[in-house]
Amino acid sequence: MTGNDSRTAAAERARKMIVAIDGPAGAGKSTIARHLARHFGLLNLETGAMYRAFALKALRSAVPLDDAKALEELAGETEIRLEPGEEENLVLLDGEDVSGLIRNPTVTEAASRVSTFPAVRAWMVRLQQQVGERGGVVMEGRDIGTVVFPNAEVKIFLDAAPEVRGQRRYEQIGQQGSAPTPPPEEILRDLRTRDERDRNRKDSPLKPAPDAVFLDSTNMSLDQALAAAEAIVAKKLGPAKNAS
Ligand code: C5P
Repeated sequence: MTGNDSRTAAAERARKMIVAIDGPAGAGKSTIARHLARHFGLLNLETGAMYRAFALKALRSAVPLDDAKALEELAGETEIRLEPGEEENLVLLDGEDVSGLIRNPTVTEAASRVSTFPAVRAWMVRLQQQVGERGGVVMEGRDIGTVVFPNAEVKIFLDAAPEVRGQRRYEQIGQQGSAPTPPPEEILRDLRTRDERDRNRKDSPLKPAPDAVFLDSTNMSLDQALAAAEAIVAKKLGPAKNAS
Protein backbone atom coordinates (compact mmCIF):
# COMPACT_ATOMS: atom_id res chain seq x y z
CA MET A 1 0.00 0.00 0.00
CA THR A 2 1.31 3.49 -0.81
CA GLY A 3 1.27 6.32 1.71
CA ASN A 4 -1.69 7.82 -0.13
CA ASP A 5 -3.60 4.53 -0.05
CA SER A 6 -3.15 4.11 3.67
CA ARG A 7 -4.20 7.72 4.28
CA THR A 8 -7.33 7.16 2.18
CA ALA A 9 -8.08 3.92 4.04
CA ALA A 10 -7.71 5.69 7.39
CA ALA A 11 -9.97 8.53 6.24
CA GLU A 12 -12.58 5.99 5.13
CA ARG A 13 -12.38 4.18 8.49
CA ALA A 14 -12.76 7.54 10.27
CA ARG A 15 -15.87 8.42 8.25
CA LYS A 16 -17.66 5.25 9.34
CA MET A 17 -16.35 4.68 12.81
CA ILE A 18 -18.20 4.85 16.07
CA VAL A 19 -16.41 6.42 19.00
CA ALA A 20 -18.07 5.58 22.32
CA ILE A 21 -17.30 7.80 25.29
CA ASP A 22 -18.60 6.81 28.70
CA GLY A 23 -17.93 8.06 32.17
CA PRO A 24 -19.44 9.73 35.22
CA ALA A 25 -20.95 13.23 35.36
CA GLY A 26 -18.56 16.13 34.99
CA ALA A 27 -15.67 14.06 33.61
CA GLY A 28 -15.55 16.25 30.48
CA LYS A 29 -17.24 13.82 28.08
CA SER A 30 -19.14 16.53 26.18
CA THR A 31 -16.10 18.72 25.64
CA ILE A 32 -13.99 15.80 24.49
CA ALA A 33 -16.76 14.40 22.28
CA ARG A 34 -17.25 17.79 20.62
CA HIS A 35 -13.53 18.12 19.98
CA LEU A 36 -13.19 14.61 18.54
CA ALA A 37 -16.23 15.09 16.33
CA ARG A 38 -14.76 18.28 14.86
CA HIS A 39 -11.29 16.90 14.50
CA PHE A 40 -12.26 13.64 12.82
CA GLY A 41 -15.30 14.91 10.92
CA LEU A 42 -17.88 12.92 12.88
CA LEU A 43 -21.34 13.68 14.25
CA ASN A 44 -21.49 14.34 17.95
CA LEU A 45 -24.42 12.71 19.75
CA GLU A 46 -25.07 13.31 23.41
CA THR A 47 -27.32 10.59 24.80
CA GLY A 48 -27.75 12.28 28.20
CA ALA A 49 -29.76 14.96 26.40
CA MET A 50 -32.32 12.31 25.41
CA TYR A 51 -32.78 11.14 29.02
CA ARG A 52 -33.05 14.78 30.00
CA ALA A 53 -35.77 15.45 27.41
CA PHE A 54 -37.76 12.48 28.64
CA ALA A 55 -37.32 13.65 32.23
CA LEU A 56 -38.69 17.05 31.23
CA LYS A 57 -41.75 15.36 29.75
CA ALA A 58 -42.27 13.34 32.94
CA LEU A 59 -42.03 16.50 35.05
CA ARG A 60 -44.43 18.37 32.80
CA SER A 61 -46.88 15.46 32.82
CA ALA A 62 -46.60 15.14 36.62
CA VAL A 63 -45.76 11.45 36.27
CA PRO A 64 -44.11 10.25 39.50
CA LEU A 65 -40.43 9.65 38.82
CA ASP A 66 -40.50 6.30 40.64
CA ASP A 67 -43.54 4.88 38.83
CA ALA A 68 -42.07 2.38 36.36
CA LYS A 69 -45.39 1.56 34.71
CA ALA A 70 -46.46 5.17 34.22
CA LEU A 71 -43.02 6.07 32.85
CA GLU A 72 -43.16 3.17 30.41
CA GLU A 73 -46.57 4.33 29.20
CA LEU A 74 -45.32 7.87 28.88
CA ALA A 75 -42.35 6.66 26.83
CA GLY A 76 -44.81 4.96 24.47
CA GLU A 77 -46.37 8.29 23.63
CA THR A 78 -43.19 10.34 23.41
CA GLU A 79 -41.04 11.19 20.43
CA ILE A 80 -37.48 12.27 21.03
CA ARG A 81 -35.09 13.31 18.28
CA LEU A 82 -31.48 14.24 18.60
CA GLU A 83 -29.87 16.30 15.90
CA PRO A 84 -26.21 17.18 15.82
CA GLY A 85 -25.53 20.91 16.13
CA GLU A 86 -22.40 23.09 15.97
CA GLU A 87 -21.91 23.31 19.73
CA GLU A 88 -24.61 21.28 21.46
CA ASN A 89 -27.18 18.86 20.09
CA LEU A 90 -30.63 20.01 19.15
CA VAL A 91 -33.11 18.01 21.21
CA LEU A 92 -36.65 17.73 19.95
CA LEU A 93 -39.32 16.52 22.35
CA ASP A 94 -42.53 15.76 20.47
CA GLY A 95 -41.33 18.22 17.85
CA GLU A 96 -40.53 21.03 20.33
CA ASP A 97 -36.97 22.26 20.61
CA VAL A 98 -36.24 21.77 24.32
CA SER A 99 -32.45 22.11 24.06
CA GLY A 100 -32.43 25.18 26.32
CA LEU A 101 -34.76 23.70 28.94
CA ILE A 102 -33.01 20.51 29.97
CA ARG A 103 -29.83 21.65 31.71
CA ASN A 104 -31.25 22.93 34.99
CA PRO A 105 -30.82 21.05 38.31
CA THR A 106 -34.46 19.85 38.45
CA VAL A 107 -34.27 18.16 35.04
CA THR A 108 -30.76 16.88 35.80
CA GLU A 109 -31.95 15.10 38.93
CA ALA A 110 -35.08 13.78 37.18
CA ALA A 111 -33.00 12.41 34.26
CA SER A 112 -30.82 10.53 36.70
CA ARG A 113 -33.92 8.96 38.24
CA VAL A 114 -35.91 8.04 35.13
CA SER A 115 -32.83 6.48 33.54
CA THR A 116 -32.79 3.67 36.11
CA PHE A 117 -35.87 1.98 34.60
CA PRO A 118 -35.23 -0.88 32.14
CA ALA A 119 -38.18 -0.05 29.86
CA VAL A 120 -37.01 3.55 29.53
CA ARG A 121 -33.45 2.40 28.83
CA ALA A 122 -34.50 -0.20 26.26
CA TRP A 123 -36.45 2.46 24.36
CA MET A 124 -33.57 4.95 24.52
CA VAL A 125 -31.02 2.36 23.42
CA ARG A 126 -33.13 1.55 20.34
CA LEU A 127 -33.34 5.24 19.42
CA GLN A 128 -29.62 5.70 19.94
CA GLN A 129 -28.78 2.69 17.81
CA GLN A 130 -30.94 4.12 15.05
CA VAL A 131 -29.23 7.51 15.07
CA GLY A 132 -25.79 5.93 15.10
CA GLU A 133 -26.36 2.97 12.82
CA ARG A 134 -24.61 4.48 9.81
CA GLY A 135 -21.50 5.19 11.87
CA GLY A 136 -19.44 8.33 11.62
CA VAL A 137 -20.39 9.35 15.15
CA VAL A 138 -18.99 10.16 18.53
CA MET A 139 -21.62 9.10 21.03
CA GLU A 140 -21.28 9.88 24.70
CA GLY A 141 -23.18 8.65 27.73
CA ARG A 142 -22.94 5.94 30.37
CA ASP A 143 -23.57 2.68 28.49
CA ILE A 144 -22.47 3.38 24.91
CA GLY A 145 -19.48 1.05 24.84
CA THR A 146 -21.19 -1.64 26.93
CA VAL A 147 -24.77 -1.71 25.60
CA VAL A 148 -25.60 0.72 22.79
CA PHE A 149 -22.59 0.02 20.56
CA PRO A 150 -20.64 -2.88 22.06
CA ASN A 151 -18.80 -3.20 18.73
CA ALA A 152 -17.73 0.45 18.56
CA GLU A 153 -14.29 0.82 16.98
CA VAL A 154 -13.08 3.14 19.72
CA LYS A 155 -14.18 3.13 23.35
CA ILE A 156 -12.97 5.64 25.87
CA PHE A 157 -13.89 5.56 29.55
CA LEU A 158 -13.30 9.04 30.86
CA ASP A 159 -12.94 9.61 34.58
CA ALA A 160 -11.58 12.10 37.09
CA ALA A 161 -11.62 12.36 40.88
CA PRO A 162 -15.04 13.48 42.18
CA GLU A 163 -13.61 16.67 43.74
CA VAL A 164 -12.07 17.66 40.41
CA ARG A 165 -15.27 16.93 38.51
CA GLY A 166 -17.25 18.95 41.06
CA GLN A 167 -14.88 21.90 40.76
CA ARG A 168 -15.03 21.84 36.95
CA ARG A 169 -18.83 21.72 37.04
CA TYR A 170 -18.84 24.65 39.48
CA GLU A 171 -16.66 26.73 37.15
CA GLN A 172 -18.73 25.72 34.11
CA ILE A 173 -22.02 26.79 35.73
CA GLY A 174 -20.38 30.05 36.86
CA GLN A 175 -19.24 30.79 33.30
CA GLN A 176 -22.74 30.18 31.91
CA GLY A 177 -23.92 32.88 34.30
CA SER A 178 -27.61 32.24 33.57
CA ALA A 179 -28.54 31.13 37.10
CA PRO A 180 -26.97 31.60 40.53
CA THR A 181 -24.20 29.03 41.00
CA PRO A 182 -24.91 26.61 43.83
CA PRO A 183 -22.12 26.24 46.43
CA PRO A 184 -19.36 23.78 45.41
CA GLU A 185 -20.29 21.35 48.24
CA GLU A 186 -23.83 21.10 46.86
CA ILE A 187 -22.58 20.48 43.32
CA LEU A 188 -20.24 17.75 44.56
CA ARG A 189 -22.99 16.13 46.61
CA ASP A 190 -25.40 16.05 43.65
CA LEU A 191 -22.70 14.69 41.39
CA ARG A 192 -21.91 11.87 43.82
CA THR A 193 -25.62 11.01 44.17
CA ARG A 194 -26.02 10.75 40.40
CA ASP A 195 -22.83 8.69 40.09
CA GLU A 196 -23.99 6.27 42.76
CA ARG A 197 -27.29 5.80 40.97
CA ASP A 198 -25.59 5.28 37.60
CA ARG A 199 -23.01 2.84 38.96
CA ASN A 200 -25.40 0.82 41.09
CA ARG A 201 -28.52 0.48 38.96
CA LYS A 202 -29.32 -3.08 37.94
CA ASP A 203 -29.81 -2.35 34.26
CA SER A 204 -26.69 -1.31 32.34
CA PRO A 205 -24.79 0.31 35.19
CA LEU A 206 -22.01 2.74 34.46
CA LYS A 207 -18.81 0.75 34.07
CA PRO A 208 -15.95 0.61 31.59
CA ALA A 209 -16.35 -1.87 28.72
CA PRO A 210 -13.60 -4.51 28.97
CA ASP A 211 -12.00 -3.14 25.80
CA ALA A 212 -12.32 0.55 26.68
CA VAL A 213 -9.26 2.75 26.99
CA PHE A 214 -9.31 4.32 30.44
CA LEU A 215 -8.55 8.04 30.47
CA ASP A 216 -8.18 9.67 33.87
CA SER A 217 -8.10 13.44 33.48
CA THR A 218 -7.72 14.25 37.20
CA ASN A 219 -4.27 15.78 36.74
CA MET A 220 -4.65 16.92 33.15
CA SER A 221 -5.37 20.34 31.73
CA LEU A 222 -8.19 20.53 29.20
CA ASP A 223 -5.68 20.65 26.33
CA GLN A 224 -3.87 17.60 27.66
CA ALA A 225 -7.13 15.64 27.97
CA LEU A 226 -8.17 16.62 24.43
CA ALA A 227 -4.78 15.59 23.06
CA ALA A 228 -4.90 12.27 24.92
CA ALA A 229 -8.37 11.45 23.56
CA GLU A 230 -7.31 12.46 20.05
CA ALA A 231 -4.29 10.16 20.30
CA ILE A 232 -6.48 7.22 21.34
CA VAL A 233 -8.67 7.63 18.26
CA ALA A 234 -5.74 8.30 15.92
CA LYS A 235 -4.00 5.14 17.12
CA LYS A 236 -7.06 3.07 16.26
CA LEU A 237 -7.21 4.62 12.81
CA GLY A 238 -3.78 3.44 11.86
CA PRO A 239 -0.91 5.09 10.03
CA ALA A 240 -2.52 8.39 8.92
CA LYS A 241 -3.20 9.99 12.24
CA ASN A 242 -5.21 12.93 10.99
CA ALA A 243 -8.19 11.86 8.97
CA SER A 244 -9.69 15.32 8.62
O1 C5P B 1 -24.79 13.04 30.55
P1 C5P B 1 -25.88 13.77 31.28
O2 C5P B 1 -25.44 14.27 32.62
O3 C5P B 1 -26.51 14.83 30.45
O4 C5P B 1 -27.01 12.68 31.52
C1 C5P B 1 -28.15 12.92 32.33
C2 C5P B 1 -28.49 11.64 33.08
O5 C5P B 1 -28.92 10.64 32.15
C3 C5P B 1 -27.29 11.02 33.82
O6 C5P B 1 -27.23 11.45 35.17
C4 C5P B 1 -27.53 9.52 33.71
O7 C5P B 1 -28.18 9.04 34.84
C5 C5P B 1 -28.45 9.37 32.51
N1 C5P B 1 -27.80 8.75 31.35
C6 C5P B 1 -27.79 7.38 31.26
N2 C5P B 1 -27.27 6.77 30.16
C7 C5P B 1 -26.75 7.49 29.16
C8 C5P B 1 -26.72 8.90 29.23
C9 C5P B 1 -27.25 9.51 30.36
O8 C5P B 1 -28.26 6.69 32.17
N3 C5P B 1 -26.28 6.86 28.09
